[in-house]
Formats: sequence, structure tokens, C-alpha cells
Amino acid sequence: MGRRLEKLRVLVVGGAGYIGSHTVKLLRSQGARVTVLDDLSTGRRFLVQSDDFVEGDLGDRRLTDRLFSSGFDAVMHFAAFSIVGESVQLPLKYYHNNVGKTASLLESMLGHDVERFIFSSTAAVYGEPEEVPITEEHPRRPKNPYGRSKLMVEQMLVDASDAHGMQYAVLRYFNAAGADPSASIGESHEPETHLIPIVLQAAAGKREAVKLYGTDYPTADGTCIRDYIHVNDLAAAHILALESLLDGNDSCAYNLGCGQGYSVRQVIETAKAVTGKDITVVEEQRRKGDPAVLVASSDKIRKELGWSPDYDDLEAIIETAWKWHNRR
Ligand code: UDP
Repeated sequence: MGRRLEKLRVLVVGGAGYIGSHTVKLLRSQGARVTVLDDLSTGRRFLVQSDDFVEGDLGDRRLTDRLFSSGFDAVMHFAAFSIVGESVQLPLKYYHNNVGKTASLLESMLGHDVERFIFSSTAAVYGEPEEVPITEEHPRRPKNPYGRSKLMVEQMLVDASDAHGMQYAVLRYFNAAGADPSASIGESHEPETHLIPIVLQAAAGKREAVKLYGTDYPTADGTCIRDYIHVNDLAAAHILALESLLDGNDSCAYNLGCGQGYSVRQVIETAKAVTGKDITVVEEQRRKGDPAVLVASSDKIRKELGWSPDYDDLEAIIETAWKWHNRR
């Protein structure tokens, strides 16, 4: 990557979060001028990789109007609640934050003629896969309020672009994992629900055991298969998507995964090998709503934007996560 984004002004909403902070770091290394807007509800101040940080609510119209009146070339929007189980318990919290506030952000942005928008979507918009690998043409039938909230924004973007001529890129992440190799930023959720950080906490003796949710799935070892993608490969896809919009290409939607599935047991075995620690596993019932296999076809973004992952094996991904875990 060159420095094609030199001096470009980008507002990164949710830039204090896991994927947002890695993308801010990469944007800045490309010369972009980045403002981070984050309310720190789940983000962390120490993850913010820009001096220009605004603590605030993306649904605060006065605040976003003030920000946009200072002039931006593009918006990247990472700020969302993302815990599936919580979304089932508290759906309106998800619709209010993920959908309602995004509508406000888009109105504010378009009102100031900022017309490029990169949106963090998710494999959860597809629901139970009919076939894998999942392409962008797969029907989108999300199974929970979290996935529905993301699909609603995707639909909102289609309508807003038809009506107002804005350009958007929708990026549907599969399982984001790993950390920047500098170990200065990484994954930090409270509470933690994701497999790799939980497994590493167990390896470090910070939790007694890993609960393995389901051993009777129709997979080779009975555990769920997921497509893990390194967070910096996700960040790189955001840069390519932004460059594509700047080149005047059409709005687009892309899946982002490596196209390689690993089972929960394989993740645990790989983490044992990387850390050299024993990890205690307790077998539990299935977690509600987990599809057996989620693997992306990322052919479209590879072909159209020339994206390919730098980290294409699980061991390399877990090594970066372990380094971050030990640095914290
Ligand atoms: N998982 C698990 N134990 C945990 C956390 C997750 O067995 O403590 C399993 C989960 O059921 C799923 C996979 O690991 O099959 C990945 O879960 P994660 O929450 O990391 O991501 P998801 O695919 O749900 O977005």
C-alpha cells in the first residue's frame, strides 16, 4: 500500500474499539487525517490511535453536525453493540444504538455533503448458511436482533444511496481475531465472549477453563467451525474499500474471511501449541443460535479490490493475540 490517502480527512466512529483502533492505526500510516468519535461505552481510551479524539455519542446530532461542518472526505462506522445473546435479551437497545443512531449519523453526514461511508457489517446477516463457503449472493436471513440491526443498516444504505447519491462499502466480517504485531493494541472486551481471547485467558491462568459450547455438531470433531481473519487484514480491506470509493467505483458489499474454517477444538489445540500451556476444557451444551459452520467466500473482494490476507493461518493469528495478551 502506498500513501494514497495523504491528507484525506476521515471520521472513524467507534475508533476506540477493537477493529476500529487497528483501522485508525493503518489509516494514519497511510497519511490520512483521522478524527475518532467514540462514547467509550465499550471502547477504550488507550486504544485510540489518533490525537484527534472526540468523546461523544454518534446519535448526538448537534455534535455530529458540528464535526461534519469542519469538513470530512469519508466516514468509517464501527460503533455498534455486538453481543448476540444480549441482543436477544435487549433487542431495543440494539435497534436504538445500531440502527437509530446510524440513521442520525447518515442524516447529519449527508446534510454536510459527506458522501462516502464504510460500514462494519457481519456474517450474522446471513443467518443459518444454506451452503458454505458463503458468497455475497447468499440469502440474508439473520437469526437474531444483532444480525437484523446490521441488515437494517445495509438496507438503509441502499435506500440512501438511491435517494441521495452517496457511496457506501459494506464489509461483512467473519471472525475477527489477533492483534497488531506491535502488541500496542488488541482485543479487549468486557465481558469477553469471543473464543480466542477466552482460550488465551485460560492458557494464562486467568480463567479456570474454557467452556466448549457443543460437541454434537455435524462437523468432523463435533464442534463449530469458524473462519478467523486477522484484524489487520480487516483494516487493510477498509483502506481498499475507501480507495475504491475515491476512485469513483460503485457502492459495494464484500465478505471478509480467509476462506478456511477451524473448529473450536482446533482453535484450542493451536492455542496450546502457541502458548506451550495446558488449557482445561469443560464440555457444555450448545450455545443458542450458533450455526455449525461459517466460512466466507472472499473471492469477490480478492478479485475486485485485490485484497488478500497477510495472515492466512490460525497459528500466526493466535501468536499475535498471545503477544498482546502478555503485554497487557
Ligand atoms: N465458543 C466456545 N466457548 C466460548 C466462546 C465461544 O465454545 O467460551 C464457540 C462458540 O460457540 C462458536 C465459536 O466458539 O462456535 C466462536 O465463537 P465466538 O463467540 O468467538 O464468535 P461467533 O462465531 O459466535 O461470532
